[in-house]
This record gives sequence, C-alpha cells and structure tokens, in this order.
Amino acid sequence: MRVRLGILAAIAMSMAGVAADSPEWRQPFAAHRVVGNIYYVGTYDLASFLIVTPAGNVLVNGGLADSVPLIKKSVADLGFKWTDIKWMLTTQAHYDHVAAFAEIQKSTGAKVLATAADAELLESGGKTDFHFSAPEYHYAPVKVAERIADGQVLKIGGTEITVYLHPGHTKGASSYAIPVQEGGRTYRVLIANMGSINPGVKLVGNAKYPGIAEDYRRTFEKQKALSCDIFLSSHAGQYGLHRKYTPGAAYDPARFVDPEGYRKAVAAMEAAYRKQLAEERGTH
Ligand SMILES: [Zn+2]
Repeated sequence: MRVRLGILAAIAMSMAGVAADSPEWRQPFAAHRVVGNIYYVGTYDLASFLIVTPAGNVLVNGGLADSVPLIKKSVADLGFKWTDIKWMLTTQAHYDHVAAFAEIQKSTGAKVLATAADAELLESGGKTDFHFSAPEYHYAPVKVAERIADGQVLKIGGTEITVYLHPGHTKGASSYAIPVQEGGRTYRVLIANMGSINPGVKLVGNAKYPGIAEDYRRTFEKQKALSCDIFLSSHAGQYGLHRKYTPGAAYDPARFVDPEGYRKAVAAMEAAYRKQLAEERGTH
C-alpha cells in the first residue's frame, strides 16, 4: 500500500510539474561502514557510497542538489576529508542521484566518470533524458572526464571496480562490482542499479527511446547472471538498508550479506517489466 501511494504521489507530482520527491530523500541518515573500505554516506533513501583508497576516494551517487551538506557531514562523521574525493560515479544520471554532482565536483575537484549515454545526460543537466526532460528535473550540468564502458575495470588505489552497463532506467544506467577483502574472506559487493520503470514510461512505441524494452530485457538477463554477497543499490529501500542496519549498530559486514535479496529484487523488477510489456502489447 505504502509503495502504491508513493507511485501515485510521484505521478501526481509530475503531473503538477513538481519534481517527484520523497521526504525520505531529504532526511539525514547515519553514516556507517558497510564492508571494508566501503561506507554509506547517503540520505535516508538516496544511497551514496564512499569507497576509500590510499590513492583517493570514490563517491558513488550524490543525491539531490540539497543533499550536499548531508553527504559532507557523513563523510566528516566517518573521519574522512571531503577533498579526498577524487572520482565520482553514478548508477543513473537522474536528478535524485546526480543533481548534487556539480557542487561536489567544484568543491572537491573530483573527476566524473560515466557511461557514454549517462555522460551525455550529465553534461546536459538532465535535459536530454527520455522521460524526465521537464525543467523540474534539470540539474546543474557536470563535465564528464572519462567515458567508461561495460566490463571496464577501474583500478584505484588497490580497489577494483568493474563497470556493468544495465540500461533501461536511464540509457546509460550502470552497476558496479567491487571485491572487498575483509576478515580473511572476499566479499563480492554489487552496487546494482535496479531495473525499475518510472511511472508514465512506455516500453512499446517509445519514440524517445525505441530500444527501451530490449535494453531492459538484456539488463535483467545480465543482472540474473551476476551474483553477489553484499547487495547495495541506488535507493536504500531497494536493498533493505533499514531492515539491515539501525543507526549506532556495531560494524558487521554480515548484516549486509544478502545474495537472495538481490536475486529476489531483480526477479521482482523483471516481473513488473514483463507485466507492463504484456499490458502495452495487449497480450496479458
Ligand atoms: Zn531514476
């Protein structure tokens, strides 16, 4: 029921020309260590991750424009320097994950790395998005230093980040796999961009994104072929952060080990996709 209301609210707000938003996107949340050199620095629902390396730190996602002070405080609360952020990545170049990028880039000098399609979106400030092209979804454009590709391994200060192109939600949406050594074992961490379909997006006859249905289909194939130990995502709610972690709880990577949760989340997204596709094709 809660989710249904959220979707209805999102539709209502977009029809009202107000950027779909949620109070949970602006609510602060305790910074915490997820596993090894990966930390949560996001808001209550907009996930941002700090990957700390001796060569400089990587920030994955930046939230809304007014998320910057929250992320900055989280980085400081963990004892890290803001200006040690040297690289920025995103799972999807929508306003709720990258509207803060321009300010973060300016205040850190960090390099933004993005897939080709999402780099275009970032450099347009969201204007070229096939769905969220209305002014309320625009954000300050950022310069992308390097286009990254599917399967590329980013080697930063001993940490290896594999890029997976998982388009559909945005044309360049991507996930990142990071093996983390901790306590004598390797945790396969996956920051997955889930294949959710925004309200109002058409899968059939989408003039702005003709290949969307096929991109989603392939994304689900690829995501089903991936497995992980620790499942993270663009929204805290998508990987059950608040079920797994309570502010102040002791550091314990085991609480985030959830390969089954990942598998089920992908399956649920694919089921929603298949249902919508059948409805649009009139074959349900
Ligand atoms: Zn999005």
